[in-house]
Amino acid sequence: MQSIWGIQLGWDEILPDSFMQQSTTYLQQLPSLEGLEIRRYVMQHNYITAELHGFSDASEQAYAAAVYVRTTSVEGVKCNLIAAKSKVAPLEKISLPRLELCGAILLAKLMVKVERALKRKFDAKICWTDSTIVRDWIHAAPQRWQTFIAIRVTKIQNHFDPNQWHHISGKINPADVASRGITAEILVRDKLWWHVPSFLLLEDYSAELSVPPTAVIIEAVHEARKIPVHHVKVNAAFMERYSSLKKLEKHTAVWKRFMEYLKLKRYNNLNMLKVTIDTEELQQALLLWVNTAQRLEYSAEIKALEVQEHVSAKSNILALNPFLDAKGLLRVGGRLCNAQLPFDRKHPLLLPAKGHLTTLIVRHIHQQQFHAGLQLTLYTVQQRFWIPRGKEFVQGEIRKCTRCFRFSQNQQNQLMGDLPAARLVPSIPFNKTGVDYGGPFTLGPMKIRSNKTYKATKKIYCSSWEAKSHFQ
Ligand SMILES: [Zn+2]
Repeated sequence: MQSIWGIQLGWDEILPDSFMQQSTTYLQQLPSLEGLEIRRYVMQHNYITAELHGFSDASEQAYAAAVYVRTTSVEGVKCNLIAAKSKVAPLEKISLPRLELCGAILLAKLMVKVERALKRKFDAKICWTDSTIVRDWIHAAPQRWQTFIAIRVTKIQNHFDPNQWHHISGKINPADVASRGITAEILVRDKLWWHVPSFLLLEDYSAELSVPPTAVIIEAVHEARKIPVHHVKVNAAFMERYSSLKKLEKHTAVWKRFMEYLKLKRYNNLNMLKVTIDTEELQQALLLWVNTAQRLEYSAEIKALEVQEHVSAKSNILALNPFLDAKGLLRVGGRLCNAQLPFDRKHPLLLPAKGHLTTLIVRHIHQQQFHAGLQLTLYTVQQRFWIPRGKEFVQGEIRKCTRCFRFSQNQQNQLMGDLPAARLVPSIPFNKTGVDYGGPFTLGPMKIRSNKTYKATKKIYCSSWEAKSHFQ
């Protein structure tokens, strides 16, 4: 019928020969169905376990689902068809995996319907599909896929755990009969269609259950949602305009926030502009500039490491055993992998020995450490960054610091006057004496259980010639 609709015939026009022949064959086959017998009771009496098994399949013409009840009893295992449904593929051309997914969702709905109709709990509910792509789509998070897939996967996951979906070979998939089409004559005696693949009639069919996929196959990834990425070229000249690292970080963070805002503007997410810049954003801003500086200075090394090649033997950072971290930043490999130190300390970020960013960072740390000297500034820098010939660089920056220069100058002191003759000419002790008075001081009570206090003064006599003193 769909094909006839496709050629857009009028209601009173005669069918083309090919369609006429198909219709005639179909009508001729119909009497064969008279011999078809369908069991009314699909389960076994006194069954021990009852399971629901569903199969889905799709072809370019149609997609279909078939649901079977598998019961075990002392008499053995029996499987019978309980419900099936098929739909013609839409006129609009869609890929076969997507049609298979339509078959899977048809199956999921049919399984739920059958369970509700039978009003009983089944020991197991297993869905089978012969498409590994569909199985992988169902096993992954829906938001990973494009809208068409994501909507259907979500619906399937609402009713079934992904682990309930298994792969079956297309040759023994009973739903294949419904999706491809079959003549009535063959249908009547088709064992696969009426009684499922033979492995399900075994006591234990667990060997046929497929292991959940550990990685999504390449074909499934083709339908992954394409996340728009906005590339913004970072201009190193922008950095040169700043003489303070804090200002550079803050302005960059604001600029990055604004870029985010432009992306999300269509979602009316205006609240993000009201929130103050946090430490994380400042850190990200700094790393952005570190990355820029590294790519300016060590572009050849980074390119080699990106394609997992060795750094050139001529590179002056070869001895540092550099590597790229998860964010693409160049870090020092070093020999401290086994040390119990923070990651930044073990593998500091590599900073070029010449460059405005390195100057800003060293200057900032020097000021943060209250204009510390060479050793402390260098040590603090190396907690996070590694500068080749860092000692020279930090020394140079400290020399340029105006405040340090000012405070490093010697202070001018006044010359002291001549000592008096009494202190220089020998004489008997206390011949020439200096006296000093102090007080009054409050003394505690002299007697026990008395609250009377006394006032006292002190006198100190110092001999001018010898270093002797008398205290009263
Ligand atoms: Zn200083």
